[in-house]
Amino acid sequence: MANKDRKELVIIGAGPGGYAAAFHAADLGIKVTLIDPEVNPGGVCLYRGCIPSKALLHLAKTKEEAMHASKWGMKFEEPKIDIKRVASWKEKVVKKLTEGLGQLSKARNIEYIQGKAKFTGKNELEVTDNKGKTSDLSFEKVIIATGSSAVGLPELEIDHENIWDATDALELKEIPKKMLVVGGGYIGLELGSVYAALGTKVSIAEMTPGFLPGTDRDLVKVFEKNEPFKNVFFETKVEKVKITKKGVKVSLKGKKEEQNKKFDCVLVAVGRKPNTQNLGLKKLGISANEKGFLEVDNKRRTKLEHVFAIGDITGEPMLAHKASHEGRIAAEVTAGKKGAGYDPKVIPAIVFTNPELAWCGLTEEEANEKDVKVVKFPWSASGRAVAIGENTGLTKLLIDKETEVILGGAVAGKNAGSLIPEIALAIEMGSTASDLSLTIHPHPTLSETIMESAELFYGDATHYKKS
Ligand SMILES: Cc1cc2nc3c(=O)[nH]c(=O)nc-3n(C[C@H](O)[C@H](O)[C@H](O)COP(=O)(O)OP(=O)(O)OC[C@H]3O[C@@H](n4cnc5c(N)ncnc54)[C@H](O)[C@@H]3O)c2cc1C
Repeated sequence: MANKDRKELVIIGAGPGGYAAAFHAADLGIKVTLIDPEVNPGGVCLYRGCIPSKALLHLAKTKEEAMHASKWGMKFEEPKIDIKRVASWKEKVVKKLTEGLGQLSKARNIEYIQGKAKFTGKNELEVTDNKGKTSDLSFEKVIIATGSSAVGLPELEIDHENIWDATDALELKEIPKKMLVVGGGYIGLELGSVYAALGTKVSIAEMTPGFLPGTDRDLVKVFEKNEPFKNVFFETKVEKVKITKKGVKVSLKGKKEEQNKKFDCVLVAVGRKPNTQNLGLKKLGISANEKGFLEVDNKRRTKLEHVFAIGDITGEPMLAHKASHEGRIAAEVTAGKKGAGYDPKVIPAIVFTNPELAWCGLTEEEANEKDVKVVKFPWSASGRAVAIGENTGLTKLLIDKETEVILGGAVAGKNAGSLIPEIALAIEMGSTASDLSLTIHPHPTLSETIMESAELFYGDATHYKKS
């Protein structure tokens, strides 16, 4: 094959998995080549996922707080939304962060190739740039980090400007008057909340009996007290969709009845699938499992010694922080670092709605009542929560009855996502309830709800007496 140039380590995909792997590997002295179709690293997370959605959710929360303040004697007018400026602000956030990653990549002397890679052999691949021009290269080791993309619904696989996926929703081309979100998982709820704050009448259709299937129901109950949606259809499937001049006509089939509703647009948020197709995996000598994921060992190595895989393509949970952690482990393994391996006790998860929901480790559904004590501290007993109008929140710990070791935790309320890492750290370090209850937490902060939950393991907490 002509134009061969053997690379020490090639990383395919520059999302939070790929760029974290590339940066760490370069810091460990490896010559890294990073390949991605975008002009800078960032992946789905920075360009079309975590970051733009959180920028918009920040706006949604700002509006909700301003509107809520009338209850405390401070009345704001209903804000006017300038959708073009909102979109341009969101773009600026994305640009600043992705350009920053580009600079960090250059500073580490990483060879960044803009294009799409496809394996042509065990140590060879072909890169197609954005103009369709191809070039070949060979490599000693490779880390595959090609991420995931949105799953469509067969009923909704219509290429039409009014049928959206998350990427379309984040483009903010317009604020529809009426929108149906199909899927009550975290992406559906986060983007649904954004559009509700922008003024859209948002309805949700979810196949299971509640929001966020699989998530702690105590957390979901806190969200339900404040959910911003016009209509919610549980145990409901989208049966048919028809594009009309006036919008999208949708047949929704519930447990008891079928109803037809009209919306300006439909946002499909029913899950994500790994990007393992069109990668030439056969030529490389590996294959994806029946769900499309690449199977790896705790070194993040596939069945081939020189081939690693990280991030969304290796399976659930499909989260950016899991991808980055795997990336750093794979980099250390490729650098020959002894003892490097993927072995987290917990992977925290957060839903960035208002209120935020966050959890890690053992859940109440998984816990065996005989061995595990569940303690719950209501935020109505927290001075800080009451002072900021967050009385409905909740902090929960799951603790081994015998060893008193923290096994899991869940938080619902403002900044829950910034509180959950304390519980994750406690679990990683094998901390006990007394470690948490004896750690002096600053007052008045929401973090005290973690300390007081731990106090509840031993009886009552300073600010909460069980009846
Ligand atoms: C709307 C939305 C909100 C989200 N919010 C959060 C959140 O708040 N927190 C969180 O943890 N996660 C969130 N996620 C999930 C998160 O984005 C992913 O878990 C994360 O991006 C996975 O990282 P990754 O490195 O595996 O892959 P990705 O970020 O998907 O990056 C993969 C990269 O590989 C590139 N690529 C694909 N094929 C090739 C090829 N053949 N050659 C070269 N490059 C290729 C892709 O173009 C992409 O740039 C969100 C996702 C969405 C859609």
